[in-house]
Amino acid sequence: MTMVDTRTDIPKTPTLPDAQTVTEVTHWTDRLFSFRVTRPASLRFRSGEFVMIGLMGDPDPKTGKQKPLLRAYSIASPSWDEELEFYSIKVQDGPLTSRLQHIRPGDQIILRPKPVGTLVHDALLPGRRLWFFATGTGIAPFASLIRDPQTYEDYDKIILTHTCREVKDLEYGRQLVETVRSDEMLRELIGDGLDKLVYYPTTTREESPRMGRITDLLRDGTVFRDLGIEDFGPETDRAMVCGSMGLNLDIKEILESHGLREGANSDPKEYVVEKAFVG
Ligand SMILES: Cc1cc2nc3c(=O)[nH]c(=O)nc-3n(C[C@H](O)[C@H](O)[C@H](O)COP(=O)(O)OP(=O)(O)OC[C@H]3O[C@@H](n4cnc5c(N)ncnc54)[C@H](O)[C@@H]3O)c2cc1C
Repeated sequence: MTMVDTRTDIPKTPTLPDAQTVTEVTHWTDRLFSFRVTRPASLRFRSGEFVMIGLMGDPDPKTGKQKPLLRAYSIASPSWDEELEFYSIKVQDGPLTSRLQHIRPGDQIILRPKPVGTLVHDALLPGRRLWFFATGTGIAPFASLIRDPQTYEDYDKIILTHTCREVKDLEYGRQLVETVRSDEMLRELIGDGLDKLVYYPTTTREESPRMGRITDLLRDGTVFRDLGIEDFGPETDRAMVCGSMGLNLDIKEILESHGLREGANSDPKEYVVEKAFVG
């Protein structure tokens, strides 16, 4: 069951370097949670970018000194949001997330205000359809991008695919799409038919209406049949990919076989890729 934790008596004094204060924590499953923090007034970022966040590490047994323990995290909120949102895994023996999963509103985290990343509009040439391929927490950068008006201004159709093992792992994304579709400002851009934003969730382990790896469903044409798409190719389609190393490589191969080329900030092309985690 989803549990939301909010608190109003939030302390104002930062005690960590680059400290930001946690304002809300939502536990989605025993392995997934999201949280919101205050946004540094000077932080500008492009929707889809990531930053380094973390906590102070344990004191060194010899010197007693503490060093920040930082990890890369996609900013899940759009660039216009007053706060910053993150969507996180809980790795039980993970140096950071074994502790981060216990944060509560009012706590502080460290946030290095240097956003970077390739999952940005600037790294793609103009196109008609934009695909977001995500697995697991790889949906985080797209949680930012599907809340950014530019996404709907630049494309006729946005297709968000999200693949997880179990149905409950899809809940953050499902609620997000619902929020976007009911948002007054975005709704105007998406249109009343709401068909400009297509949500395509799949599960690989638990039974659900659409099962299978997205790579298999692309290779055997199921995705294209389901969505009525006959002309997938470099003239019309753009894609952003965020998953495990294996998933990224497989999708790259599929996209390349359809004639799409990998782009970068300095050299925009038809698709871009980023790892959702290392390992
Ligand atoms: C560019 C980039 C963006 C990232 N954005 C996010 C994000 O938005 N949300 C997020 O939760 N993590 C994200 N990560 C992963 C994140 O940096 C950490 O690895 C994660 O927070 C776990 O930290 P840890 O210290 O607890 O364990 P680590 O020592 O970092 O990881 C331990 C092991 O856990 C597994 N693992 C780590 N992260 C994940 C994950 N997200 N999903 C599934 N398995 C994982 C891997 O097998 C890894 O070897 C991102 C990584 C990169 C490179």
